[in-house]
Amino acid sequence: MPDRTEVELPTEEAVTFVNNYRCSVCWGMLYMRPSGKPHTEIVSCARLPGECSAIGFVTANYIERARAQNQADFVEAMSLIGDILYPDREKKKNADILSDFGF
Ligand SMILES: [Zn+2]
Repeated sequence: MPDRTEVELPTEEAVTFVNNYRCSVCWGMLYMRPSGKPHTEIVSCARLPGECSAIGFVTANYIERARAQNQADFVEAMSLIGDILYPDREKKKNADILSDFGF
């Protein structure tokens, strides 16, 4: 029986759901397991129980937009306070800072 951290779906919908949605708490991938009923699956956060207090799902597109906004906020913050936090740091361009973080 699924709880509020899981959703039970027909198998085809479950595959689409896993591909297009992520955990709303950890933003991690979802996984599906057999529900015990024919042609239905249970979808939940892929993290182990206790590693995430999953409470729902968000679209993968939402997470992409949120991460892009977080990166932009980081670059803006570093341009405003980077010299205060790291006065001896090598001066880098925004593109180099993002590259250092793998973006
Ligand atoms: Zn999660």
